[in-house]
Amino acid sequence: MQFADIPGLEEVKTSLINSVKNNHLAHAQLFFGPEGSGNLAMALAFATYLNCTNRQMSLDGSEDACSQCPSCQKMSRFVHPDVHYVFPVSATKNISGKDVVSSSYLADWRNFLTGNPYGTISQWMLQYGGEDKQVNISKEESRHIVRNLSLKAFEGNYKVMIIWLPEYMHVSAANGILKILEEPPAKTIFLLVSSDVEKLLTTILSRTQIFKIRGFKDEEISRYLVQQHELPEEQAAKAARMANGSMSAALGSINEVKDNNHSLYSSWMRLCYERNFSQLIQMADDFHQLNKDAQKSLLLYGLNILRETLVYPYTSEELVRLEGDERMFVERFSKVMSWDKVQLIAEKLNESLYHLERNASPKIMFLDLSLQVAGIIKS
Ligand SMILES: [Zn+2]
Repeated sequence: MQFADIPGLEEVKTSLINSVKNNHLAHAQLFFGPEGSGNLAMALAFATYLNCTNRQMSLDGSEDACSQCPSCQKMSRFVHPDVHYVFPVSATKNISGKDVVSSSYLADWRNFLTGNPYGTISQWMLQYGGEDKQVNISKEESRHIVRNLSLKAFEGNYKVMIIWLPEYMHVSAANGILKILEEPPAKTIFLLVSSDVEKLLTTILSRTQIFKIRGFKDEEISRYLVQQHELPEEQAAKAARMANGSMSAALGSINEVKDNNHSLYSSWMRLCYERNFSQLIQMADDFHQLNKDAQKSLLLYGLNILRETLVYPYTSEELVRLEGDERMFVERFSKVMSWDKVQLIAEKLNESLYHLERNASPKIMFLDLSLQVAGIIKS
């Protein structure tokens, strides 16, 4: 995560960068913003920047981490040995008692952050399968914090302790870290990320420098959705308006659309493959009923999947971006279809998109496209 990955919030980024340049780096900082804001992303980007060994100047004159150096690479996978994460947890089927501390949940935590550093506490609980609704940061955890920070930094630069949602700290845990929060070892930085400062002990608050992170503006969210998730502009603008400043709400709504597109697209391709024309006619009717945004979104989704299918056989395991059903679909599709056929289908989808934009009848367009795809598959 780099500063550039977070839409907007230039004033906060500049002030963080300047604090490093001017040697005014506060050793305990609090990023306070509403749920779904960029508060956690900002802490991750700042931790990346702090330990980057090759900071860069971007075109607009702002500084950022390089994303390439070994430190940045480790930060991007959330495995930097000098950056520690503490977050609320609760017991699960497999983790209980004294093991209910952040370090037992790291694999889930990394998955949670990957691609979406805007998640909420309930999304986090869903991720690790918390059964007990009482999440907290326990006294045991505060002992881990003190112990981890007393170790020497592995790679020499800053040791960073990111505490997500310190408002869930048990009082005894909060008291347990007061001393180290006030006087941390050299080159140790606390980054607290909160959505509810009212619940924080004043003794914690008074020891931190506070950065207020506002909710995202609509245009920031929609730009992000267009650039990072290849959403058509109108659809992105709509998702942004509904999200009320929360990136996680916006991402949630587009995931719904994506799931829907996936199930439509995969059954459509199956019908083409089976040459089930009566069902394809029915499907053209259904397609006709969708609004124009949804029709375009389905075709764009299809193009995206075809692109993935083309590169899939040449992509190494760790570079495959797809998961679950999508991945299975692409894997099977790439096995039964030659490169040329996939390419041809993509061309047809592109043409249809062009016609749809120019107000062709969706029903006729879709049926024609289905026949062409069925023909290509059989050829
Ligand atoms: Zn770097």
